[in-house]
Amino acid sequence: MTSGVRLILLGKQGSGKGTQAVRLADHYGIAHLSTGDLFRAAARAGTPSGLEAIEYMDRGELVPDDIVLKVVREQMRRGGLMDDGFVLDGFPRTLAQAEALEAELAAADRPLDVAIDLEVPTEIVLDRIAGRRVCEDCGTTYHLTMPPKVAGVCDVCGGTVSQRDDDTEASVMRRLELYHTATMPILDFYRGLGRLVEIDGMGSGDEVFDRVRTAVDGRLGG
Ligand code: AMP
Repeated sequence: MTSGVRLILLGKQGSGKGTQAVRLADHYGIAHLSTGDLFRAAARAGTPSGLEAIEYMDRGELVPDDIVLKVVREQMRRGGLMDDGFVLDGFPRTLAQAEALEAELAAADRPLDVAIDLEVPTEIVLDRIAGRRVCEDCGTTYHLTMPPKVAGVCDVCGGTVSQRDDDTEASVMRRLELYHTATMPILDFYRGLGRLVEIDGMGSGDEVFDRVRTAVDGRLGG
């Protein structure tokens, strides 16, 4: 049996990682793992790691690596994702996380296939985040200019659509600053491993997905 595709999605907040991750998961039949969604769900459920994580998230700070790695390892194991394939969305976000992931994949002899960097200028992501509305249940993303059919109700699951608590101006500025200082060094890490593909993240979801899929298939030799 061949194993599933292993992908990670990198890019600023608002670059479209969540939207593209859902589509990639569907297209390749792999699991979508969003650390942000995991933490928000854990916080709603009131678990200790969820409550600790939300303290950092609301301020726009990164959740400490040890908490993040514990949660990701649990999910990877429980879901058998190393074998079945995955697209990671919002992880890794620090060099230490990237190195830990690389070590785990190497130990399991399941190397990463592609690290995709979605490139979108900062002024565009600021506008996208200001208008972003998200389903509290399934994570589907909307925008003030592209709302759900019924106001405040998710088209996909009927859940409540609202603005994320951490999409405030102060939090967004801090998250973008951290993206530059903590997350951008990861790009060089994956470039050095020969796994990075940089994709223009501007345009419609369909246009970006076509670019991403073409790049991934090219890497897979498909
Ligand atoms: P996201 O939904 O991906 O925008 O993540 C929301 C927030 O969750 C981030 O601003 C961080 O506070 C936290 N978070 C998510 N993933 C990570 C990660 N890999 N490392 C550290 N913090 C994270």
